[in-house]
Amino acid sequence: MIDLGINRFCDVAVVGGGPAGLAAAVYLSRFLRSVLVFDVDDGRAKLIPRTNNCPGFPEGISGRDLLRRLREQATAYGTEVLSTDVESLSGRHGAFVLETAAGNVQASRVVLATGVVDRAPAISDLRKAIASGAVRLCPVCDAYEVQGQRIAIVGPDHSALREALYLRRYSPSVSIICNYPEDISAAIRSEARAAGIAVWDAVDDLVLREAGLDIVMAGGSKTERIGVLYAAMGCDVRSELAMDVGAHCDEEGYILIGPHAQTSVDGVYAIGDVAKALNQIAVGFGQAALAATHIHNSLMAEQARGGNS
Ligand SMILES: Cc1cc2nc3c(=O)[nH]c(=O)nc-3n(C[C@H](O)[C@H](O)[C@H](O)COP(=O)(O)OP(=O)(O)OC[C@H]3O[C@@H](n4cnc5c(N)ncnc54)[C@H](O)[C@@H]3O)c2cc1C
Repeated sequence: MIDLGINRFCDVAVVGGGPAGLAAAVYLSRFLRSVLVFDVDDGRAKLIPRTNNCPGFPEGISGRDLLRRLREQATAYGTEVLSTDVESLSGRHGAFVLETAAGNVQASRVVLATGVVDRAPAISDLRKAIASGAVRLCPVCDAYEVQGQRIAIVGPDHSALREALYLRRYSPSVSIICNYPEDISAAIRSEARAAGIAVWDAVDDLVLREAGLDIVMAGGSKTERIGVLYAAMGCDVRSELAMDVGAHCDEEGYILIGPHAQTSVDGVYAIGDVAKALNQIAVGFGQAALAATHIHNSLMAEQARGGNS
């Protein structure tokens, strides 16, 4: 473990080295700000087998390659990336303290880019299933790639139906899985049927196959082979650090932000999936640019007034 030393100082501490945090670091370093990025490398971007909607990559790019490129770009301009968990955040505008296992850091501004964690069905080899594209987590990201395939959706009834209706445009064969993890109400069942969406009851198991998945019905009575399972089970938002300093979040835990990605706490910004917006790489990039520029301008203004930036 690196010893950061107590009270190491930087202009901006970025918590999270996913696409959003690293994009903010690129901007901030090019504004000649001292930037520390903290990252424990377990984010969503790392799970992406290949994204085809990330602007600028017509052949697509894997999440890992995108992260490698972003990290190279940020460090080339002077960003330091530290593989350590930020355990708590305290302090105030101009003097925040981030507590890590490797020591404490003081920062004038803080950017939270900690992301979310998807909830996924209990299936052995989940990572392998995501890597193969048999289990997917985001139709906005990749419904285009599954056109015409047999698709099933698992999740609480309203979100399962919403996602099924969205996916119906891409495939004539869309089903909702019941009782996995919970039952689907009668009202949702009839809405689904009206839209040509099947409802499969009493699913016992989901088994990853060479191509796609088997959905095993109660007692092994019947098996349905599908190409893709979408999990519409929501996510856990990693907004604990925002809550440490009292930043406002919505009922799901998403951090509420203003037009420059500022939170309700002066000097603390939130970008990427952890902020209330569309969970997409391109959105994180945009928020990163807005936050970084606002931070730089605010530090410039502080300096002009004789502050310590
Ligand atoms: C399978 C899959 C496919 C997807 N496909 C696409 C796609 O095609 N197109 C698209 O636009 N989006 C896609 N997404 C969504 C995309 O991955 C996210 O929108 C994007 O990764 C969000 O970036 P982020 O930087 O906000 O968060 P993340 O990528 O989740 O990164 C957050 C980082 O913060 C770190 N972190 C969190 N807490 C701490 C802490 N306390 N201390 C230190 N580090 C911390 C984590 O380790 C992680 O590295 C996909 C997601 C998944 C799961």
